[in-house]
Amino acid sequence: MNGHSHLFIPGPTNVPEEVRRAMNIPMEDMRAPDFGDFILPLLSDLKKVFRLTHGRVFVYPTSGTGAWEAAISNTLNTGDRVLMSRFGQFSMLWVDMAERLGLDVDLCEVDWGKGVPVEDYAAKLTADKEHKIKAVFATHNETATGVTSNIAAIRAAMDAANHPALLFVDGVSSIGSIEFEMEDWGVDLAVAGSQKGFMLPAGLGLLGVSDKALAAHEHAKMPRCYFSFADMIKLNDTGYFPYTPATQLLRGLRCSLDMLLAVGMESVWDRHHRLASGVRAAIAEWQGCRLVAHGPEWHSDTVSAIYAPEGVDARDVIATAYHKYQTSLGSGLAKLAGRAFRIGHLGSLNPVMLCGAISAAEMALRDAGAVIEPGCGIAAAQEHFRASTPTMQVRV
Ligand code: PLP
Repeated sequence: MNGHSHLFIPGPTNVPEEVRRAMNIPMEDMRAPDFGDFILPLLSDLKKVFRLTHGRVFVYPTSGTGAWEAAISNTLNTGDRVLMSRFGQFSMLWVDMAERLGLDVDLCEVDWGKGVPVEDYAAKLTADKEHKIKAVFATHNETATGVTSNIAAIRAAMDAANHPALLFVDGVSSIGSIEFEMEDWGVDLAVAGSQKGFMLPAGLGLLGVSDKALAAHEHAKMPRCYFSFADMIKLNDTGYFPYTPATQLLRGLRCSLDMLLAVGMESVWDRHHRLASGVRAAIAEWQGCRLVAHGPEWHSDTVSAIYAPEGVDARDVIATAYHKYQTSLGSGLAKLAGRAFRIGHLGSLNPVMLCGAISAAEMALRDAGAVIEPGCGIAAAQEHFRASTPTMQVRV
């Protein structure tokens, strides 16, 4: 009677009807003689989303955090020095994991609102003549702050320093949504999760692994069991898994890969850029609001983190949007709690859906005390969407 609720958090994202239907099937035999006929093309198509022709992909029944752990435990040794940077909740948690797994973290602290400090990385890599740094870590899209970092520039800095470290990238909120070129950017381990650009429920940790990382795996001694690449490879090679796979999620993944690849990744990236630009057009009109991202070079096309105006508690904006307008906005995480809210604009979305999110945010901001001219943000977004949306946009 009240219509449906609206989900504009940066993951889990909206699951398209086609994907939901693809998962609504009876349980199946994961050791059936023809199960491999389903899995082998699935893995090979998943590589296309990572933009990987060599190496391999692994699909674990876990979340993005599990795929982080799989990447580290399979390719590094306890005590290895790694270069990391921290500028939001997720880069912070990745550092925490690295430390808890016994890595020696060389950490760059960065203002929240900026991303990976490429110049600092370059200086540290150049100074590391003995190649003590075994891995360089980069959070491609910091979901807490709406900041995207330049992975190609990090690879260029590593190459300029002639440094052999592995490059680890957290692509949980970027892969499947915004430009990601695993092979061209020389990424060795790329982490993704099913619940963001892949438009699925949470439950699959997706990991792209380069040939170089597979070679490092041969000598890496960090304890591992559940996430062991070797165990996975042994069975994946014929299309099976070392433990019970999440078959319904895999059927959903088949459907979402078909949708993404039917239009092509470039088209998916373009759509995310158009949608994000519309959200940013609205934010620019909201008096007293501003993006957490420090400038256009950091703008994320999958999530916008927005400071509420002075004197307005962002928690009130989020609670009002939820209770009054049936709309979930993303919360301000860690030190952004109360100061910022987020609009997720990734996955299965179109301009009219986002007009709903922008309207809800605008109404909730006013309800929470923000002095904003009624309709100013939504009008700017509408004009942006009118000018930029192709008339024959294919659904993804
Ligand atoms: N990295 C980033 C950038 C994320 O946004 C998230 C979750 O939102 C994670 C890692 C952790 O992924 P998960 O919650 O799937 O374990």
